[in-house]
Amino acid sequence: MTPDDPASIDRDALAILNRVFGYPSFRGPQRDIVAHVAGGGDALVLMPTGGGKSLCYQIPALLRDGVGVVISPLIALMQDQVEALRELGVRAAFLNSSLGAREAAAVERAVAAGEIDLLYVAPERLLAPRCLELLDHAKLALFAIDEAHCVSQWGHDFRPEYLQLAVLHERWPRVPRVALTATADALTRREIVTKLALQSAREFVSSFDRPNIRYRIVEKIDPKRQLLDFVAGAHAGEAGIVYCASRKKVDEIAQWLTAQGVAALPYHAGLDNATRSAHQARFLREDGLVMVATIAFGMGIDKPDVRFVAHLDMPKSVEGYYQETGRAGRDGAPAEAWMAYGLADVVQQRRLIEQSEADDTYKRVSSAKLDAMLGLAETIDCRRVRLLAYFGESSRPCGNCDNCLEPPEPWDATEPARKLLSCIYRIRQASGFGFGAQHVIAVLRGHASDRVRQHGHDALSTFGIGADLSETEWRAVLRQLIAQQLVAVDHARHQVLALTDSSRELLRGERTLRLRRPKAEPSRRPGRTARRTRGAPVPADAPTAAGDAADPAVDALFERLRQWRRVTATTRGVPPYVIFHDATLRGIAQRRPVSLEELAAVSGVGEKKLDAYGAELIDLIGSDGP
Ligand code: ADP
Ligand code: ZN
Repeated sequence: MTPDDPASIDRDALAILNRVFGYPSFRGPQRDIVAHVAGGGDALVLMPTGGGKSLCYQIPALLRDGVGVVISPLIALMQDQVEALRELGVRAAFLNSSLGAREAAAVERAVAAGEIDLLYVAPERLLAPRCLELLDHAKLALFAIDEAHCVSQWGHDFRPEYLQLAVLHERWPRVPRVALTATADALTRREIVTKLALQSAREFVSSFDRPNIRYRIVEKIDPKRQLLDFVAGAHAGEAGIVYCASRKKVDEIAQWLTAQGVAALPYHAGLDNATRSAHQARFLREDGLVMVATIAFGMGIDKPDVRFVAHLDMPKSVEGYYQETGRAGRDGAPAEAWMAYGLADVVQQRRLIEQSEADDTYKRVSSAKLDAMLGLAETIDCRRVRLLAYFGESSRPCGNCDNCLEPPEPWDATEPARKLLSCIYRIRQASGFGFGAQHVIAVLRGHASDRVRQHGHDALSTFGIGADLSETEWRAVLRQLIAQQLVAVDHARHQVLALTDSSRELLRGERTLRLRRPKAEPSRRPGRTARRTRGAPVPADAPTAAGDAADPAVDALFERLRQWRRVTATTRGVPPYVIFHDATLRGIAQRRPVSLEELAAVSGVGEKKLDAYGAELIDLIGSDGP
C-alpha cells in the first residue's frame, strides 16, 4: 500500500529513521520533505552539503511500495552508497558501467522481482532502452535526481544526459520525483525546474549555514610551516583536504607533508587515471589521510568525516570557497576550514583576470567575484555572517569563526595608507615610472638599498616616513589596499604599483580606512589547547570541536573504537564510515554504554548495526580501562 494519511506517514517515517538509520530525530526540513514525497508529491530540495539530502528520498522510497530509483552522476561512489545502505539492512543495488553483464542481469532480475527498495543508476544507463523497459515492468516508488544542478549548462558540472531526464515525467507521470542539489543560486534553480519539468514541485530551501564548520583565514607568512602547525597540531591523525592552485604545488606539498610525518597523497588532473582513483580510494577507505589536491578533486567527495579543508591558495570566488570548504564535516561533527592568504594571492588573482583572453563581461563578473572573496578574507567581522550574506541569508555573529573567537584588532590605517600612497606617487614622479612592492616598502622604511640609492629614492620626502612599521606590517597594509583597489598592480610591467581613482580620495582626506591590524609574527597557536579560549561566547547549539571537552578517557576510548572500526571495515571490504561515522563513535565513547539498550540510544546506531556489532562493542567498552 502507498500511505496517504499524513499522520500515519509521519509516524512511519520517524519509525524508519529510528529503527533503520538509528537517528533520534529529523534534521531541519527533512521531516516535511519526507512527508511530502512519501505522500506522492514532487519536490525540489536545496540543502547544503552535509545537510542530509539522502534521507529525503531514502525514507520515502522505503515508505512507498516499489523501487526508488536514484539517478546520480557519481558512478565511483555508487558502490559505497549501496554498501552503506546494505549495512543498514536496506535492499539496495546499483546499475552502471562498472558492473559486468552477469552482475547487471542479476540486479535487473532482482528489480523485476520487486526485491530492491533503492536502485542507483547513472543517467546514461537509465536512458538506455533496456533500463527504461525494465522500469516499465517494475513498480516504482519514486525518482530521486541527485546533483540536479548537472542540468545547468552554465554550471561547471554540466552533464548533457541530465537534459533528457524530463522523460521521467512524460513516461511515468504518476511517479513522484525529487530533485536535490547543494547549488543554491536562483539561476540554477530556475534551470532545474524548467529542464526537468518540475513546475509543480514544492521547493524546500534550507539555510546554507554549516554551523559545525569553523572558518579561519590567516595571513600567509610561512605557509608550509603554518600548514604543518594546523595539520599536525589540532588535526593530527585526522582526514583532510589541502587545496593548492597548481599541480606542481600539489606534488611539492604532498611530498613535504609526507616528509614531515603526515600521511598525505597528491591528486590532480596531471596524474594518470589509475593513480588518481587509487588515491581517491585510499582517501575514502583509510582513516586520517590528507589529500593534497587541485580543485579537480571535487564533486562527490562524500566522505563524511573530512575534519578539515585547508587552502594554501585563495579560490577565485566565494562560491568556490564555500563549495570546497563544504567538503569538511558532512557528518555534522566539528570541522575546520582554514586558509592562508597573502599579498601574492591578491596580485596573482587580479593578474589572472586582467590577462585572461575572455571578454569584458567575463572580466567584470570575475573581478566582482574576486572582490567578494577578498572582502571575506579581509573582514574584521564574523566570517559566517559575510558568507551567508553572500548567499542572500542574514545571520548574527556565529561564535565559531576566527573573527568571533579572537576578534582582530581594528586599526585605523588611514595614516599609514596615505604614507604608502604618497610614497608610490613620489617614486613615480621622481623616476617617471613605477616600482614594485619590495622597493616601495624599502623606501618607506628608510632602507637605503643599492637599488634605492641608485634611483636616488633615498632623497625623497617619503624616504623613511614609515620606519615605525615592520616589513610584514607594510605588506599587510599594501595587500589590503590592493584588495580594496586603492592601489593597482601593473601586471604587464613587472608588477609595479600605481594609484587608482579611489586612492586619490584617500590621499585628499575624503575617506578613512579601517583595516585588520596585521600580526607581526606568524601566529603559532599551540594545537588544541588554545582553541576557543578567548573571544565571543559560543552559542549553546554550536558543536564543540573534537578536542575541546578534552577528556582523555573519552579520547582514548574513541581511538580504540576507531581501531576496531578499521579492522572491521577491512574485513568487510568497506570504507570505515560505512560501519559507523566518527560522530557515532564519539557518542559511544562519551556514553560508554554497558548494555545493548544503552548502545541503541546512541545516534547512528540502528537495528541492523546493533545486531551486527552490538555485542562486540559492549565487550570492547567493558574491557576499556577505568
Ligand atoms: P548531503 O547529501 O546533503 O551532503 P547526507 O545525506 O550525506 O548529506 O548526510 C550528511 C550526514 O548527515 C550523513 O552522515 C548522514 O548520516 C547524517 N544525517 C542526515 N540526517 C540526519 C539526521 N536526521 N540525524 C543525524 N544525522 C543525520
Ligand atoms: Zn563568526
